[in-house]
Amino acid sequence: MRITINGRAIETAEGATILKIAKENGFRIPTLCHMESLIPTGFCRMCVVEVNGLQNPVTACNTPAVDGMVIETDTPKIREIRKEVLKFMLVNHPLDCPVCDKGGECDLQDYVYEYGIEKAEYQVEIKPKEYRTYSTSAIKYHPNRCILCSRCIRACREIAGREVLDLIETGFRARVEAVRPERCISCGECLAACPVGALTENVSSLKGRKWQAKRVTTVCGYCGVGCSLEVNVVRDKLIKVTTREGLGTNHGTLCVKGRFGFEFVQSPERLNTPLIRENGGFREASWDEALTYMTAKLKEIKEKDGPDSIAGLASARATCEENYLFQKFIRAAIGTNNIDHCARL
Ligand code: SF4
Ligand code: SF4
Ligand code: SF4
Repeated sequence: MRITINGRAIETAEGATILKIAKENGFRIPTLCHMESLIPTGFCRMCVVEVNGLQNPVTACNTPAVDGMVIETDTPKIREIRKEVLKFMLVNHPLDCPVCDKGGECDLQDYVYEYGIEKAEYQVEIKPKEYRTYSTSAIKYHPNRCILCSRCIRACREIAGREVLDLIETGFRARVEAVRPERCISCGECLAACPVGALTENVSSLKGRKWQAKRVTTVCGYCGVGCSLEVNVVRDKLIKVTTREGLGTNHGTLCVKGRFGFEFVQSPERLNTPLIRENGGFREASWDEALTYMTAKLKEIKEKDGPDSIAGLASARATCEENYLFQKFIRAAIGTNNIDHCARL
């Protein structure tokens, strides 16, 4: 079929939404409630566009393009509508960007700036929503920063399959609530979906801004699924784990361990000296002493009972390279295939 976007004729297959075709052809349409991995709803109205012959603008995220459509994505009228949408989102929004963990990577903050809104014009005399405990202690919930886009609710339902969250009440009192907290598995899909600072992390709160962090894509070592994730490093410290929609075999999703289980990396409780078991306890030893002891013991066992009497168990908390070397050692130096890894759960 043939459609026209901002004066450019485009040939495209049938069945895609206006937003998808626009994106594929390099036209930027702002969105807040939209995520590729979620069923589109048109909740936030940021993606409105004009279509020739239609009296009212339509939401691009959930309107299928049809043959012959003539679409305008950035007219003065459209920009004015988006500006009003943003102003309504700012009603009683606390604007605490300096202390908000999302500052610098918040879609609302970016759009408000882009659309030239200089102050929160509309305010309503209503008590601020109270901070309430969320369904998991890994996440903090700031209801006054919520823009009611429902991404968290849909991510919990459509990605995690848990249906913990829902919208309660109406009007200015409407809020997201963990209505079935007992079903929460602390996966953090809701957190990853939130485009603003309404849901923030407890583990990494206020440890560094996006522009200070180096994001390194790596693979989670906790289990054999091998999810891709990004470690965020600030001044040589791992401050949090993020993902990108569509990234890796996991398509940007994670479980509680991959997303929140990284504090062991910098834990002061990590062993940094070898320990030798003696008299029912452990005593610290030098590397030389421990390695000499271990070599002698392994040789003794191998000579007496054969290499298959020895087995190696590697750790997910070691690096890929360390695990590779360890299996090489067990196979080549010891001479057995008895090697396993706790990531093969
Ligand atoms: S959610 Fe965004 S706009 Fe709101 S306080 Fe946080 S950074 Fe600022
Ligand atoms: S952490 Fe996971 S299960 Fe819990 S509310 Fe969020 S998405 Fe749902
Ligand atoms: S908590 Fe975040 S994701 Fe959920 S509705 Fe509010 S702004 Fe949207």
